[in-house]
Amino acid sequence: MVVVMAADATDEDADNVAGLVRAAGGEAFVSRGVSRTIIGLSGDIDHFATLNLPAQPGVCDVVRISVPYKLVSREHHRERSVIRVAGVPIGPDTLTVIAGPCAVETPEQTLRSALMAKAAGASLLRGGAYKPRSSPYAFQGLGEKGLRILADVRDETGLPIVTEVVDPADVDLVAAYADMLQVGTRNMQNFPLLQAVGGAGKPVMLKRGMSATVEEWLMAAEYIAQRGNLDIVLCERGIRTFEKATRNTLDISAVPVAQRLSHLPVIVDPSHSGGRRDLVLPLSRAAIAVGADGIIVDVHPHPETALCDGPQALIESDLRELASVALHLSPLVGRTLTPAPAPVPSMSPALA
Ligand code: PEP
Ligand code: MN
Repeated sequence: MVVVMAADATDEDADNVAGLVRAAGGEAFVSRGVSRTIIGLSGDIDHFATLNLPAQPGVCDVVRISVPYKLVSREHHRERSVIRVAGVPIGPDTLTVIAGPCAVETPEQTLRSALMAKAAGASLLRGGAYKPRSSPYAFQGLGEKGLRILADVRDETGLPIVTEVVDPADVDLVAAYADMLQVGTRNMQNFPLLQAVGGAGKPVMLKRGMSATVEEWLMAAEYIAQRGNLDIVLCERGIRTFEKATRNTLDISAVPVAQRLSHLPVIVDPSHSGGRRDLVLPLSRAAIAVGADGIIVDVHPHPETALCDGPQALIESDLRELASVALHLSPLVGRTLTPAPAPVPSMSPALA
């Protein structure tokens, strides 16, 4: 059972609810989020009915939920959610393309990639400054210097930025630059990190763990939601199977399955799942056709010299086709392609 407090409820209102539940022998977990406070209850649910919780001051809703991921479930919220990233919507009526380099390497490479992203129909820019590499000898990212490059490129192009955070200690710093925080596949069950991004006040893109079930993925999202942050986008990015022909196996059925169980938007990463440039367009088509709310793709001006994931990055000659796929397939699935945000007036006219 979950008690959702009204946006204007006070701390005393939440304490009153928690106190009533505890006095009745139950447990109450109070999550004070950025926009509202949520109280998870466990114990004798039937007995709580006698407490008349819906009538308590500051209570907005009291919901009985049978699944272990409560706040992100459709039992809690029937309508599919729209998440806004610096105003850019991700949800059931739109198709949102996110594109950019796997890793931020230089200002020139990042700007060039952002312009490529725009040409591919993207409305958000991706790029990693903190890279969770499988090998400790591989390029680990530029850290804060990379975040500054991303922020400069956002200023120049108008594209809000999505970037990964791998350490709970870096969450505040990354959130100060990013428009959306990414939690990668290797960190899907890093619970302190999930709790930290849940309290950061920015939307979060949660990639599916490469060995995680859909239920585990949704429970990971619940860790973020429990901190009061329901601005979460799920990203299917391929899972480990016996198949070696691709880097991972894109679990396309996870998209409608997750959308049926959760109100959160679900996007697909055809680049990290296939791991090969020639698969990105076919997998993008599949993702759009199956009903994904967006796609996130790698692009790079010179993939042969890329410090990370060059073989899967789209190049200039692929962009027009990706843009055309996104534009022409979206109406067939009842969506409109999310436009890039309008350029800000201070922007250089050459880049508008
Ligand atoms: C990425 O998007 O840069 C990334 C590392 O993806 P994943 O966590 O899916 O491997
Ligand atoms: Mn990558």
